[in-house]
Amino acid sequence: MKKISFWLLFLSLYQHSLCGKQPNILFIFTDDHALNAISAYEGPLAKIAPTPHLDRIAKEGMLFDHCLVTNSICAPSRAVVLTGKYSHLNGQLTNRNVFDGSQQTVPKLLKKEGYQTAIVGKWHLKSTPTGFDHFEVLKGQGHYYNPLLFTNGMDVNHVGYTTDIITDQALDWLDQRDKKKPFFLMCQHKAPHGKWEPALRHLHEFDDMEIPEPPTLFDDYSDRSPASAQHEMGIADHIGEKRLMLSYASKFTPEQFNQFDQAFRPKNEAFIKAQLTGKQRTRWHYQRYIKNYLRCVKAVDENIGRMLEYLDRNGLVGNTIVIYSSDQGFWLGEHGWFDKRWMYEESLHTPLLVRWPDRIKPQSKNDLLVSNLDFAPTFLELAGAQPPRDMQGKSLVPVFKGAKPKDWRKTHYYHYYEAGGHGVPIHYGVTDGRQKLIRFPDPNLNTWEYFNLDKDPMEMKNLYGKKSYATNIEAMKKELHRLRKLYKIED
Ligand code: CA
Repeated sequence: MKKISFWLLFLSLYQHSLCGKQPNILFIFTDDHALNAISAYEGPLAKIAPTPHLDRIAKEGMLFDHCLVTNSICAPSRAVVLTGKYSHLNGQLTNRNVFDGSQQTVPKLLKKEGYQTAIVGKWHLKSTPTGFDHFEVLKGQGHYYNPLLFTNGMDVNHVGYTTDIITDQALDWLDQRDKKKPFFLMCQHKAPHGKWEPALRHLHEFDDMEIPEPPTLFDDYSDRSPASAQHEMGIADHIGEKRLMLSYASKFTPEQFNQFDQAFRPKNEAFIKAQLTGKQRTRWHYQRYIKNYLRCVKAVDENIGRMLEYLDRNGLVGNTIVIYSSDQGFWLGEHGWFDKRWMYEESLHTPLLVRWPDRIKPQSKNDLLVSNLDFAPTFLELAGAQPPRDMQGKSLVPVFKGAKPKDWRKTHYYHYYEAGGHGVPIHYGVTDGRQKLIRFPDPNLNTWEYFNLDKDPMEMKNLYGKKSYATNIEAMKKELHRLRKLYKIED
């Protein structure tokens, strides 16, 4: 009997040493990073997007083609990541809500599993972060230069470029952490959220080139419901002076200002003198916007390079899973837009790149419908914990290991609540990746859209009401109803 107990104990210890080592989790998260601005995604800007270090994560790990958000806007997406629940259950329906930090969240659950938890960078949830051993966050949107970081309850001012400083502080925390415990670090950049102020070292990147325009830059929104024409996110008319760097949002030091202003002022003066109108003016706006956006992305990428190098240098590569994502996608001129919010493809998709040596096969691509709803249960399973039953996503851990589970979701439910933001009405819908049904319930609209994504990937033609699609539309309506019940939106 004694002998059997000894062997059981030995076996259990052996198994623990093989499987029980909890990996570190490095979650790098940005704000408004479109897939098209990551060259690994091979979109129209692939040859221009300055992302060698993000590409390295994809090359050494897995790239997800269809990571879809549940509500394409900043604070709500962050709440979904922390809770694994749709907006109506976590309470963060819009950017205007204050996040209820007393609820169950990933960092709290990971602490129970023995993790050290930290968040550095953009938080954007208004309430004080909870569940973190260390927090060091921008207040609100923050600025690109000389940020104030709310650090474990104290305001601390920094001088420099925010993307660099967030990385400096995250690396400092990694250096000072208790090295006996696994870590969960959320390193969350403000970039590339507007107003797109590049680092001083990138002010002249892309100066000598024209960035290709998307084919829908001059979309007139015909062939769709009246909803999209109501937008207030046009590169032509809504982008405004600060997003165009005709005036600046940050408070610079005099030295920073001189360098920054010297880069923009002569070009701004030439633009004002030229008095461009119509398409010529929109084209100038687009070039100014996309170049500054990509310059901000370049700083993010360089800083991701610094983090990867830190892992290399400190022998942390093997036992650290690196996850890169953004709070949602973004329009880089498609449909003439610069924002997010709509359920259309460019803002519904968010990047997801994951490196986990020895578990994820390098250079893998995954086309399952995954979601930011899945991040929370994934973090928990990585830590060896059972995800709570009230989380609504599915752990991606088996998917990382190469499985294509038969019962994986075939459809995705989306719901946007911030009525009026940039002219976007409340809407919800369902997609299976090949077709999409959207409902606009506002009494002034009270309308639907249906797109065949195979034939019309740019979503230019609403087919709702077309007889030839009646069966598909009916089936998608049923699926929409099923998902609304499943996710507890309706009974
Ligand atoms: Ca965002």
